[in-house]
Amino acid sequence: MRVGVLALQGDVREHTRALERLGVSAPQVRLPEDLVNLDALVIPGGESTAIARLLEVSGLREDLAIRLHEGLPAFGTCAGLILLAEQILDGRSDQWSFACLDVTVRRNGYGRQTASFEAMVQLHDSVVVPGVFIRAPRITKVGADVEVLATHDHGDGPHAVLVKQGMVWGCSFHPELTEDLTIHRMFVESVEALR
Ligand code: GLN
Repeated sequence: MRVGVLALQGDVREHTRALERLGVSAPQVRLPEDLVNLDALVIPGGESTAIARLLEVSGLREDLAIRLHEGLPAFGTCAGLILLAEQILDGRSDQWSFACLDVTVRRNGYGRQTASFEAMVQLHDSVVVPGVFIRAPRITKVGADVEVLATHDHGDGPHAVLVKQGMVWGCSFHPELTEDLTIHRMFVESVEALR
């Protein structure tokens, strides 16, 4: 199986390593031709506006939009989630997204850099995994077709931090920054199940 990692900006290496630890080939995606023969794509965290600009410069924006709307499985983490979200609050005035995941996210919705934190996030069946939140987007609204896979209580009740709609997954934290492979394994297994 080939799960590409969008390698324009952000924590590309960490995602590549997590996927390779799961025995998955993880080619870096920098140009439109890198999208061929992928079973899925990971869009890493970093800075959503910088990644968006590089998507335009590289010529990837249009081709990736087509692949996503054709059903290419995708997993966006942090800035990657912002790039997939249907609606962005507190974005730059010219901020765009692929709008293929029916959630609303607020950029820096947990506060600025100094408010970054680590917390255990709650998966199904009382399983918890470590989550690293760095200037993370907060999911403020989830569409009817979106499944919530993990929640976190930031003091004001549990809210979604890992969601999926069909084969488009998004999470507000960074699963690639811990040694725990649970979230990557869940995504990879769901892609594998399609084959
Ligand atoms: N706040 C960043 C943005 O808007 C995302 C932060 C991250 O990916 N760690 O792009």
